[in-house]
Amino acid sequence: MLKLITKVIKEALFPTSCLVCGAFFHFKDFKTEFTRLQQLDPGFLTGRDLDEIYKALLTPLLCNSCLPDYTPVESPICSKCGFLFKSREGNDHVCGSCLESEKKFGIARAGAVYDKSVMTMIYRFKYNGKIQLAGPLGRFLFAVFVRNFYVDISVDNRVDFVIPVPLHMSRFRKRGFNQAFLLVREWEKLVSNCNLVPHSFHVEKDILTRTRKTKSQTGLNRKDRMVNIKNAFSIKNPEKVMGKKMLIVDDVYTTGATVNECAKVLLNGGAKSVDVLTLARAALTN
Ligand SMILES: [Zn+2]
Ligand SMILES: [Zn+2]
Repeated sequence: MLKLITKVIKEALFPTSCLVCGAFFHFKDFKTEFTRLQQLDPGFLTGRDLDEIYKALLTPLLCNSCLPDYTPVESPICSKCGFLFKSREGNDHVCGSCLESEKKFGIARAGAVYDKSVMTMIYRFKYNGKIQLAGPLGRFLFAVFVRNFYVDISVDNRVDFVIPVPLHMSRFRKRGFNQAFLLVREWEKLVSNCNLVPHSFHVEKDILTRTRKTKSQTGLNRKDRMVNIKNAFSIKNPEKVMGKKMLIVDDVYTTGATVNECAKVLLNGGAKSVDVLTLARAALTN
């Protein structure tokens, strides 16, 4: 309680700067702070509306204008790659791109469209050292994970291993962290307290490794991305892969070239299935 009071007084004296637009803002009331304290409660993360979870998690970090400024990924989407259809009517179905070239992974799902506040937050997180975003964004992604891979009974999605997309050692050294790993770092703790998820899983950051240094995928088109990422990954622990169900996690799905390459390697290594989950999903290309 004392901690809470200190925190509220501190907030009143030193307003928070919004991590998206930089504007200073105050928490409105105690309720916000209590909501924040619920953030690690798996019951809270799984039992609520996703929009409510998103807003509760990010309220302490975003101002009132930036907080609602995002696009959640909601049906109708591509049942394979998770692409958000422009038309907001009809059911999920396979998109043209997935019909044209078959993806290696099973299904890909995401929490929000890669635009507006979400796009800026991911940038701040990766390039401006705002790693305080990792907790709330990772918990939001956990809520998206449970929703898509356990609650949705149309898919049999027991997951054995959660695999954050690895960075090449040189990029890891330069950045100092792997953003995909930071997003899933708390998941084992969350799932151990969560009775909604019937099976446990492990976060494995050492199964897959990035053996080839690639240039950034940013600015490359779909075909160039595929060429750029080809043979960039290999399996470090082959005995762990055989017969297992994998979930690859990354921050953004743009064309899917990176996660598709990861899936290819894991399936070649004997994985039973490979699905994909990202925080954000690009809307412009598919
Ligand atoms: Zn703002
Ligand atoms: Zn698709």
